[in-house]
Amino acid sequence: MSELVSPFSNPENAEWAVAATRGELLIKHCRSCGENHYYPRAFCPFCQSADTEFLATSGEGEIYSFAITRVLNPVIVHAYVTLQEGPTIMTKIVGVDPDRIAIGQQVRLGFEPSKMGFPMPVFTPVETAQA
Ligand SMILES: [Zn+2]
Repeated sequence: MSELVSPFSNPENAEWAVAATRGELLIKHCRSCGENHYYPRAFCPFCQSADTEFLATSGEGEIYSFAITRVLNPVIVHAYVTLQEGPTIMTKIVGVDPDRIAIGQQVRLGFEPSKMGFPMPVFTPVETAQA
């Protein structure tokens, strides 16, 4: 069992949680300064504007950093993944031998059940054909 504990649902992230149940990861876009950010919140962390909107992501990203917890079974790989849309998010890498994970690896979005009743985003490396 390797469930993630999700953030508490609140008015700032309710739309995010509903999208997660559809298998879609939303981030926030600031209409004032143009930056994207994650986690979802009412005010832009770059310019403090409240003029923000949810934005659907492609589900594509790249591993920025990771740490392997080997004392648990199954092993858990905590990671920061930088989304194609810009924000770097804390997540897990699943569905791969932890010893084959590398910084810079391309990953694709998936979801896992959480204890809070809605799924949490996780990522799996995209296998690329060897030349
Ligand atoms: Zn902003």
